Amino acid sequence: MTQQFAMVIDSARCIDCKACVVSCKVANNVPAGFSRNWIKADGPVVKAGKGPFGHFQPGACMHCESPTCVEACPTGATWKDRETGIVEIDPALCIGCGNCIPACPYGARFRNPQKRIADKCNYCPERRAAGLPPACVDTCPTKARVFGDILNPETEAARLLTRNSGHVTQLIHEKSNTAPHMYYVGGTAPAGWMHEAKAPASMRALTGVVAPGVKGLVALSGLGVLVMLGRQLLDSRKSGDGGHDRPHASGSNASGSSASGSNTSGTQHSAPADTEDSRE
Ligand code: SF4
Ligand code: SF4
Repeated sequence: MTQQFAMVIDSARCIDCKACVVSCKVANNVPAGFSRNWIKADGPVVKAGKGPFGHFQPGACMHCESPTCVEACPTGATWKDRETGIVEIDPALCIGCGNCIPACPYGARFRNPQKRIADKCNYCPERRAAGLPPACVDTCPTKARVFGDILNPETEAARLLTRNSGHVTQLIHEKSNTAPHMYYVGGTAPAGWMHEAKAPASMRALTGVVAPGVKGLVALSGLGVLVMLGRQLLDSRKSGDGGHDRPHASGSNASGSSASGSNTSGTQHSAPADTEDSRE
């Protein structure tokens, strides 16, 4: 791997304005009722006088080192680019089966009802190609979100990790350690909202066997039409399910832990009963 693009988040700077959530929706044409990123909050959030008080924790797809969503994808549409470290979705290969959605412990994925494929944060590739940071990073008025290649010591993201060495937290479900590449400095109080990664057993058996074949067929002969038919079949089966735009709540505890090779330290979190998820 030559790069690992990641987000380093100073939760203590977040003021819950949700400018990042709105700008992401606009930049990526995210349909109403869905969101690619979120702000978790320890509730109740008290809004009095100068503004809201509480612990706010921005999040999105964490572009994990060991992504369970990739393992769950039966067609190979979801994959980790080892050059950039970004977990991508290939729209030509995605059949919209939704298998990857419960397989993400962070609820970072949803089924886009317009495109009929899986959807999530991909760090705004069009903006990056134009030399711009992802929309959420650009919009944040307090600079709570910092984006960059953490393997390049010259980037602000890498410098932030170094400066906070020993005080960096990753959010990791106790049963599903995907080695997330989202790093928190400052307060990270909201916890306990993640869920164990799940993939239907039937689909799990297919993954790894079918994926290489589908990839080859689509590449070879325009059999993308089969993918399209698959999507339509799934659509007719799923009509009315509306996809998922919320994390699957669970009572599991979250724990921070260190990533190998990173300047991180683990922080134990208890699971508050009243954590809120704010997506516009
Ligand atoms: S956060 Fe979820 S969707 Fe993103 S790479 Fe990790 S497992 Fe996959
Ligand atoms: S834009 Fe920045 S401050 Fe506002 S909610 Fe998002 S992360 Fe927090």
